[in-house]
Amino acid sequence: PLVLGIETSCDETGIGIVRGHTLLADTVASSVDEHVRFGGVVPEVASRAHLEAMTPTIERALAEAGVALSDLDAIAVTAGPGLAGALMVGVAAAKAYALALGKPLYGVNHLAAHVAVDQLEHGPLPKPCVSLLVSGGHSSLLLVPDVARDVRSLGSTVDDAAGEAFDKVARVLDLGFPGGPIIDRRAREGDPRAIAFPRGKIDDGTYDFSFSGLKSAVARWVEAKERAGESVPIADVAASFQEAVVDVLTRKAIAVCKDNGVDHLQIGGGVAANSRLREMAAQRCEKAGVRLRVPRPGLCTDNGAMVAALGAELVAAGLEDSRLDIPADSSLPVTTVRL
Ligand code: ATP
Ligand code: MG
Ligand code: FE
Repeated sequence: PLVLGIETSCDETGIGIVRGHTLLADTVASSVDEHVRFGGVVPEVASRAHLEAMTPTIERALAEAGVALSDLDAIAVTAGPGLAGALMVGVAAAKAYALALGKPLYGVNHLAAHVAVDQLEHGPLPKPCVSLLVSGGHSSLLLVPDVARDVRSLGSTVDDAAGEAFDKVARVLDLGFPGGPIIDRRAREGDPRAIAFPRGKIDDGTYDFSFSGLKSAVARWVEAKERAGESVPIADVAASFQEAVVDVLTRKAIAVCKDNGVDHLQIGGGVAANSRLREMAAQRCEKAGVRLRVPRPGLCTDNGAMVAALGAELVAAGLEDSRLDIPADSSLPVTTVRL
């Protein structure tokens, strides 16, 4: 099926067009520059930016894919979770297009879309697979028997999300926003064993995560250095912090695979773009006999292609489309694949 996907859950207006598992267009307009001076995404600013970017971004995607609106089989949109006002702009636009074109509408879960996008790069997801979903707002270990119908949560963060920890540590180090990509880059010149930061919940026998203790430990370490009048070795702090996050994420992800007899691990969400996470996951999966799937970095962070990919999966599975009065649900649980 030829599906157009609309993503507006945060600060990216993402429009994707796919035909089945084939990506035809992936166009993103980001308002991130407007949020930089606030050190985080300002919801009202993001909503207004989505409104302005929507039509031109859809037009660019159609041109890139070389298709017309009338060719589409369905429209998919992120119905949640995310910023309420931002989601509402995307959902309203999707409803308008679906109604005007007489096409079916699919309101989908942004988190399941972070998983489904992998199919654009590596083909059908094995059933089941385990997914490590690590993003700005979530960090979860999922058992995914079928991304269109059955996503189960086995564990999640009890405090900060992994991406949130990257962003907060970047702020402590005065590195700018969003922090993930910057820490990733600075860590390459640092020693990951320079500082022994805590690994929260590492051996607690659950599949949950905790990153706020780590974040505080980094902040305390940096403060102590500054109070002593010493310079802060940014690269070493970045590398040691990143190593602590990635160590826990990969260790627990592989434990879930082993404990459930699943030999495919998928990693998705913005933090899946992290180079050290990709490297350590590859090494540890290889050792554990687990097959690893991680989409290219551009498909890990928010985009419209992921929404189109999940929409296409729902159409292909013969699932019923959404009603035209679906809400935008800012706290949609990860287990609800579609509305
Ligand atoms: P959610 O998906 O939970 O709703 P979100 O959509 O805002 O949250 P994503 O776009 O999926 O989040 O991911 C953004 C997060 O990923 C940010 O916290 C950002 O710092 C982080 N991130 C992006 N690139 C990297 C990287 N290379 N290393 C580490 N973190 C990264
Ligand atoms: Mg973003
Ligand atoms: Fe996301």
